[in-house]
Amino acid sequence: MNTLNIIDEGKVNDILEDAKTVSKEEILNIIEKSKDCFGLTSKEAAALLQVHDEDILNKMFEAAKYIKEKIYGNRIVMFAPLYTSNECTNNCLYCGFRVNNKELHRRTLCPNEVIEEASAIENQGHKRILLVCGEDKRVTHIDHIVDSVQAIYDNVDIRRINVNCAPLEVDEFKKLKDVGIGTYQIFQETYHRPTYKKMHVSGSKTDYDYRLTAIERAFEAGIDDVGIGPLLGLYDYKFDVLATLIHAEYLDHKYNVGPHTISVPRLRPAIGSALEEVPYPISDTDFKKIVAIYRLAVPYTGIIMSTRESAELRDELLELGVSQMSAGSKTNPGGYEEDDNDAKQFVGNDERGLDEILRVVCKQGHLPSFCTACYRNNRTGEAFMELAKDAHIHEFCQPNAILTFKENLVNVASDETKKMGEELLNREIEKIEGEKVKAETLKRLERIEAGEKDLY
Ligand code: SAM
Ligand code: SF4
Repeated sequence: MNTLNIIDEGKVNDILEDAKTVSKEEILNIIEKSKDCFGLTSKEAAALLQVHDEDILNKMFEAAKYIKEKIYGNRIVMFAPLYTSNECTNNCLYCGFRVNNKELHRRTLCPNEVIEEASAIENQGHKRILLVCGEDKRVTHIDHIVDSVQAIYDNVDIRRINVNCAPLEVDEFKKLKDVGIGTYQIFQETYHRPTYKKMHVSGSKTDYDYRLTAIERAFEAGIDDVGIGPLLGLYDYKFDVLATLIHAEYLDHKYNVGPHTISVPRLRPAIGSALEEVPYPISDTDFKKIVAIYRLAVPYTGIIMSTRESAELRDELLELGVSQMSAGSKTNPGGYEEDDNDAKQFVGNDERGLDEILRVVCKQGHLPSFCTACYRNNRTGEAFMELAKDAHIHEFCQPNAILTFKENLVNVASDETKKMGEELLNREIEKIEGEKVKAETLKRLERIEAGEKDLY
């Protein structure tokens, strides 16, 4: 089988139709089974997608919380996006960057400007960046992306750069691999071909198949850390979530490693969008259900939430299985220097800066992590998944999260955040398993307090 026929529209609809007849008892069994952390089949996930009963939904949420805690502990990895360009020759009806939006202030950052943005992000305390750009082969070509990544690594203490850009050729992916990116992220937007066609009216993005096969080319180039996710709201979420899981299953079978992350972008209003309303609005309850189902179905895959969601909902979603979140984000090139509304991709929904979000995360008992150690120790792709499945990942992650959060508290946090963070760290240190690891962590914490950085 190749990628092009993995998402058979008729088959996806049949699975969803059959799932309507699954009994309450069977659904409760599926939820119970998910707690073993072996994941779910697409048919089982489809049965959960059809759930609307409040009591059963609450059971799903409890299971998601349980699995998240078991695999990831209470850690939440933090990152911020950096938009290098809003030039784009595509016409995705929902996006502010589309070529037909003549009002948009277009801008492409040169390497020096990229360094300034990355420094502003680092000054907030971030160590991970998601680099994003529109698609215009004359400006946002592979050399623009590679030069931007290199400029950041050479000049700023940012330790991992993930990239979300248009699909590339194998030799271009090799350049991304060589410059040392973390995850390559690409959203199919919708797996439903007729809707895809309606939403992407001109430009190279009209080619559904070229987009769907991008991940294969990335793997061929040696990038084994990939992120997927549909843009929720373009089409029926049940179809797109199930198709995402089928895509993940396919990658897992073919490459022995599924996607490293699944993102949950929900359609936001965008200045200059051609859509007057969200075609398939998703309620907050359904959105929570989607996050919980991903957590139950692919327990070892990271779930990424962005500032597209409101502050209140983001706080709730942390409980349900989200493992990475962005904070203090701007969606226009140069946004960390100047917040230009007429240059944004979409309107954000959570205006809080990183420092404030850290307090919320701590208050809820989660441990913010700025760790990038796996990537820098080559624990990616299959190697990462093996460790994660054996749960050995805890041995690295918990102490590393503690050390990287401490670095933030010592160097950038406000007094209020420092106080709250230190209290949390004291509780977290007590939880470290193994006296040797605990003693080593304490020693390193002292070194960080004395001014050392990047200990892991
Ligand atoms: N231009 C590249 C592409 O389209 O693949 C990569 C960058 S694009 C700016 C990143 C993602 O933003 C898209 O894949 C899409 O899912 C999301 N996006 C676009 N418009 C959006 C909107 N109005 N609300 C929320 N997300 C949006
Ligand atoms: Fe361009 Fe990407 Fe926006 Fe489409 S989603 S208009 S390709 S930036």
